[in-house]
Amino acid sequence: MSDKIIPVTEESEQRGHSAFPPSGATRWMTCKASPMMSKLHGVYKSSEYAEEGTRAHSVAEQCALLLLRDRMPIPDILARVEDPELVDCMRPYLEEIEGTYFEEPESWMVEGRIDLSPIYGVPGQYGYADCVLAAGEELHVFDYKHGVGNPVSPIENKQLMIYAWAVLQNPKASHINLITLHIVQPRAIGEPAAKSWTCSREDLKKFGVEVLLAVSECEKYIEAGEAPEEAFCPSDDNCQWCPAHSACTGRVRQVSTKLGLPKSLPSPKDATPDQLSAILKFRKLVSDWFSDVEDEAFTRMSLGETVPLYKIVQGNKGARRWKDKKQAEEVIRSMRIPVDFAYKKELISPTRAEELHKKVKREDGKPVIGDRQWKTLEELITRNDSKPTLVRIEDKRPAMVFSQITAEDFDDLSEERPDTTAPGTSV
Ligand code: SF4
Repeated sequence: MSDKIIPVTEESEQRGHSAFPPSGATRWMTCKASPMMSKLHGVYKSSEYAEEGTRAHSVAEQCALLLLRDRMPIPDILARVEDPELVDCMRPYLEEIEGTYFEEPESWMVEGRIDLSPIYGVPGQYGYADCVLAAGEELHVFDYKHGVGNPVSPIENKQLMIYAWAVLQNPKASHINLITLHIVQPRAIGEPAAKSWTCSREDLKKFGVEVLLAVSECEKYIEAGEAPEEAFCPSDDNCQWCPAHSACTGRVRQVSTKLGLPKSLPSPKDATPDQLSAILKFRKLVSDWFSDVEDEAFTRMSLGETVPLYKIVQGNKGARRWKDKKQAEEVIRSMRIPVDFAYKKELISPTRAEELHKKVKREDGKPVIGDRQWKTLEELITRNDSKPTLVRIEDKRPAMVFSQITAEDFDDLSEERPDTTAPGTSV
């Protein structure tokens, strides 16, 4: 069997959807209506980015196991990671873990299932922490983030505080007084790859009371199947990843109130086909208007005026490039850097190959790629399927015809994932 580390993602797809996911704690601890809304209207979609993150987590899990279970040196682990981009991501993750204990941790868990029921006061609640380890009087909780945008801070990070507080409920952890939360986000632009924050058992105890109160209020709304207006707390951060955002009345109520509309807009899920059409027609107008508002705010602030809650900052610098490519090439060659390292050879794309077949001729007037060669190459070309797109009725393309989808067309993903705590370990 190959000892290469490659993503294995089947298991994580079976975790199901908890009413109180630690990763959504910031949302449900402020918008107490969101667990009820998610239960009734939640739509759980995967995205290319989420799948990329799942693959990276699978590699991180295997690397952490080799480090903690097999005591393998980090360079040897990294040599096994097949994807070169992930090698650079795993290095700071493993170094951050290894930097927290002397020779080896007393106990550890990798992707271990943590029982959250005692701290939620609700049975059957679990979470999966990327890595947790105890060394002396210290507990360390690690979370690997693969995202490029939105750098995540470990300071008072509710997701990791929940894991830590749940772990501290174990009598074997009664000697632990110092808790450090680690976020490793190697691809975050302009941020260090690893950041940490330390708090005391007492801090977590206070936080634990807030969690318990929040869960109990959320539970009340889940049972009732409804929540009062004040239980909705719409905000960019809360609503962006909320599974119920397209059905949320609280959110549209806020938009309608803020815009001073005489009537509340319908939630997308409640809207009639005519309303959907009317709102979509309005979209460009509204988004153009928002651009104008943004331009106006920028102009006024550039002239020294204050716009509450906003500021202008220096954006990220553009990609680095050689000031003078020719000069850089001469200097690199004078350094005797081997040609294979100095130049990157890339295979031509199918589009370029077609150009070489149809347009570009050799000196003898024949195409660079002849008919037979092009035929062979055509067999090797593939492309991603096109995605269904919503367009105006005047668009010349024929409308797609959809067959009726029924509940049987969906796989049942409600099963909880089996316990993946590494054998023989406990924290
Ligand atoms: S969409 Fe926003 S306001 Fe509505 S339930 Fe979700 S988090 Fe709360």
